Amino acid sequence: MANTFQELGLNSYLIKAIGEMGFEKPTPVQERIIPDLLSQENDIVCLAQTGTGKTAAFGLPSLERIVAHNMERYTQVLVLSPTRELCKQITQDLRNYSKYLHDLHVVDVYGGAGIEPQIKALKKIPQIVVATPGRLLDLIGRKAVDLSRIHTLILDEADEMLNMGFKEDLDAILESVPQQKRVLLFSATLPLEVEKIAKTYMQDAQVVTVGTRNSGSDNVKHYYYMVHEKDRYLALKRVVDYYPDIYGIIFCRTRRETGDVATALIKDGYDADALHGDLSQMQRDQVMRRFKEKNLKLLVATDVAARGIDVNNLSHVINYNLPDEVEQYTHRSGRTGRADKTGKSIVIINTKEQSKIRRIEKIINKTFAQAKLPTGEEVCSKQLLSMIDHINAVEVREEQIAPYIRLIEDKWQDMSRKEIIKKFLSVEFNRFLDYYRNAPDLNIIQEKKKKNEEGDAPAYTPKRGEKGFKWVKLSIGTKQSVTTRHIIRMMTSLGVGKRGIGKIEIRRSECFVNISANAAKYVVEQTNNTEYRGRRLWSGIVE
Ligand code: ADP
Ligand code: MG
Repeated sequence: MANTFQELGLNSYLIKAIGEMGFEKPTPVQERIIPDLLSQENDIVCLAQTGTGKTAAFGLPSLERIVAHNMERYTQVLVLSPTRELCKQITQDLRNYSKYLHDLHVVDVYGGAGIEPQIKALKKIPQIVVATPGRLLDLIGRKAVDLSRIHTLILDEADEMLNMGFKEDLDAILESVPQQKRVLLFSATLPLEVEKIAKTYMQDAQVVTVGTRNSGSDNVKHYYYMVHEKDRYLALKRVVDYYPDIYGIIFCRTRRETGDVATALIKDGYDADALHGDLSQMQRDQVMRRFKEKNLKLLVATDVAARGIDVNNLSHVINYNLPDEVEQYTHRSGRTGRADKTGKSIVIINTKEQSKIRRIEKIINKTFAQAKLPTGEEVCSKQLLSMIDHINAVEVREEQIAPYIRLIEDKWQDMSRKEIIKKFLSVEFNRFLDYYRNAPDLNIIQEKKKKNEEGDAPAYTPKRGEKGFKWVKLSIGTKQSVTTRHIIRMMTSLGVGKRGIGKIEIRRSECFVNISANAAKYVVEQTNNTEYRGRRLWSGIVE
């Protein structure tokens, strides 16, 4: 395996530029797919968790290819991405990589901004266009963009594009671009819809999985706090107060909640602000800039708004409320624990939400630790220690303060060292002492889980299966009008032959299928945590 970008076969201009960006050696995804992208023509589906360096994995070989095409001025590469923030970020990344490639142009087009300037920018005929699906369709309709000669089409965050309802737009775009092109699809997860896109629009796509599918970064630790619903905000504050150097994203479920939480935090004196779709482009840019510059320590955001945003060094991701689609959790927690740093992903739940934690554990293949919210006293000591650390770390500008020392000494001549210290600390610290005086214990300690309570264990277990077969349980049944035919069709579409399918038992909200032992695991891998007719499908082997 190649250890350097040189060995992967990239040209020296690119290597120089990425070297300046601090890329010393390729990440596993890059190592895995760049050589294929440079030497072959086939379509690739690449599954890799967030933060693994996918942008460069597709960006660098695309640029290399444009160089090989003598930088000719026609649109050669199209990148589709779900949000405008991500579009802008990909564009910025590509511009950074191509810093030393003169005459290389990247234009981004996305909704929520004036279309005229974008049409004008496209007149330059950039070699690369980065677009959100809706806006691109609009531009295609106005004949403002010519995609007739693209050789590479990249679908970034494909699962998210489909989650956001871009299916029809995607179909329309994919129908309208030339057949003779390579398609690269990147996704953190592989729900059935994404597979469908891959099957319809890609040819013999090679599926490359880097790292464990669906799993988050190993650098992330997962915790949850359980409180009464009414205490959710108080719990959030306590978590935030307990980590004085917190730099993180607080995820909410809706725009409204995002706004409410941000407003409450601002009112309570935190460096926080909201990022969601109701804001104007300018407001969003401003919030993002402040956050990236760390002038904001807490970004309160919806999933959509925060998707793909590349902010490094987040110390925490806080799930103020879990997403409706628990699968989103991976994307959220993937925002922290990047670049060899460790991060914490924290979830605040109420007593009824434990089963969601269990479901997420299955997806990420890791367990959550139930953490106890710190008491008021613990928060205060933590804050105090941190303040002292900050004071210790402060640089003293001797010369500049010299003239004032006399003044101060005069004023405080009757005060003891101890008194002075106390007063200094109180300036900052009284807010916490006041707030946490008599602060109640918000924790709800979990009772031992009763068997069957979470619906994990099947209420019904099928009789012994046929020899050489295993029972696979699927979370769909007559309630969803599932019939034997449906199940057989589903299995055959996964590539299981008729002889690999045995008995089928369909219950009300689950069904059991006998699958030949050697295919059972594959079937579960392909079906568990995917979507079936718009609802989440869970599957597993019944031992
Ligand atoms: P993904 O799309 O997989 O979520 P990104 O492409 O946004 O990940 O990359 C995540 C971060 O890692 C970015 O800040 C990027 O600059 C950085 N990065 C990517 N490749 C490398 C590399 N080879 N060496 C160092 N940093 C890298
Ligand atoms: Mg990405």
